Amino acid sequence: MSLDISTLYLVATLLAALLGGMLMYFGKQENIAALDWWGYAYLLGATDVALWALASPALPETFAQAIHALGFIACGMVWNAARVFHGAKPNWPGLLLGALAWVAATVSLPPDAVALRMTLGAGIVAIYAGLTAAQLGSERRKAVQRRWPAILVPLLHGGVLMAPILLADLLTPAGRPITSNVWVTIFAIELVLYAVGTVFVIFMLVSERTVRAHKTAAAIDPLTGMFNRRGFSEATTRMIAREADAGRPVTVMIFDIDFFKSINDRFGHPAGDELLKLFATLVTNTLRISDLSGRIGGEEFAALLPCSMDEALVAAERVREAFETCGIVVDDAPVETTVSIGVAGGPPRTELEVLLAAADTALYQAKRGGRNRVEAAMEQPLVPELGRRKSVVAVKSPALPRQVGLAGAA
Ligand code: GH3
Ligand code: MG
Ligand code: MG
Repeated sequence: MSLDISTLYLVATLLAALLGGMLMYFGKQENIAALDWWGYAYLLGATDVALWALASPALPETFAQAIHALGFIACGMVWNAARVFHGAKPNWPGLLLGALAWVAATVSLPPDAVALRMTLGAGIVAIYAGLTAAQLGSERRKAVQRRWPAILVPLLHGGVLMAPILLADLLTPAGRPITSNVWVTIFAIELVLYAVGTVFVIFMLVSERTVRAHKTAAAIDPLTGMFNRRGFSEATTRMIAREADAGRPVTVMIFDIDFFKSINDRFGHPAGDELLKLFATLVTNTLRISDLSGRIGGEEFAALLPCSMDEALVAAERVREAFETCGIVVDDAPVETTVSIGVAGGPPRTELEVLLAAADTALYQAKRGGRNRVEAAMEQPLVPELGRRKSVVAVKSPALPRQVGLAGAA
C-alpha cells in the first residue's frame, strides 16, 4: 500500500483545524481557559501545515522553513495549556523560545543543512512534549496512575519525532538521507494519531476534573470549607475501617457552640456565620492533621480522632479552651464564646452513627452540666442507637450585617 504524503498532510491539517474548533467551542461553553489554549494551538498547527504546503513551493527554502515557527508556537501553546489547566500562569518566554530558536537557525544555517534543521526541529518538539508530559503528570501522586495516557501520549510524540535522528546512524548506513519518504509518511500518520490522542487525553482530564469538582461540592460545607455531614461520614467510614485493621482505637467528638442562637439574635446572622467560620478554623488548627473534622449541623461540628478516649479528651479540652480564650470582638465589644463537647469511643468497627449517638448523649450531659465543658460518654456503645437528637436547622435572621471584628482568633 502506498500512501500519498500530500493527502496525509491535508487530512492532518483538516483534522487539527476541526479538533481545534471543537476544543475552543467546549472551552467557551464550559468556561475552561486551558481548552481555549489547546484549541488555538491546534488551529495554529493546522495553519502552519496548510501555509507550508501551499506557499513553500513558491518561497525560497529559508522562508519556507521559517513558516514552521508557527508550529513551534503551537507546541509551546500545548505545553502552556497544560500549565493553565493546572492553575499555573502561562510561560510566555518559554512559549516563544522554540519558535525564536527555529527562526534563528533557519536564517543562519545554509539551506542544504537539512539533517541539522531536522534534528533541531525534532529536538524542540521533543522538549515541548516532555514539558507537557511532566506538567500533566505533576498532579497529586495518587492520580498519576490514572493519568498514564496524559503522560504517555506527548512522550510518544516526542519519541517518534526524535527516533529517526537518534537511529539515523543505524538506519542509514548507505548514506541515504534521513528525510526519506518513509519518515515523512510516519510523521504524517503520527501527527494525525497525536492530534486525536491528545484530544482524547484532554477530554479525559476535563471529565476527571468535573467529576472531582462535583464530588467535592457534594461533600464540602460551602460556608466553612469543612466536610459536610455526608463528606464527614464518607471520610470517617474509611478511617474507622483502616484503624480497626491496624488495631488502633478511634474516638469521636461532637462540638456544639453554646447559646449560638443568642449570638445570631444580638449581632445578626452574618456575624453568626463569621463565628462558624472561625470555629471551623479553630477546630482544624487545634486538632492534628490526621484527625478528621466536619460541620454536621447548623452550629454542630464533629471530629474523629485515631486515638484513645484519654488522648481525645485532652484534644477536646484544647479546643474548648482555645474557643473560650480566642477573644472575639463584635462592634468593639468582646463576645463570650464557649463550646460544649461530647466525646465517645467504641469497639473497633463501630459505625460512625453509633459513635455519634454516644457522643451526643455525652454532649447533652455537658449542656446540662452548665455548658463550656467536655464530657465523656459513660459507656461504650454496643448496639446501634437510633433516634439522634435533631440537628439544628438554619433560620435566617432578618438582622442587617454588622461589622465583625475578630481579634486574637486562631
Ligand atoms: P445551646 O447552648 O443549647 O446549644 O443553645 P444554642 O442557641 O446554641 O442552640 P439552638 O439549637 O437553640 O440554636 C442554634 C442556632 O444556630 C439556631 C440557628 O439560627 C443557628 N444556625 C444554624 N445554622 C446557622 C448558620 O448557618 N448560620 C448562622 N448564622 N446561624 C445558624
Ligand atoms: Mg445545637
Ligand atoms: Mg448550640
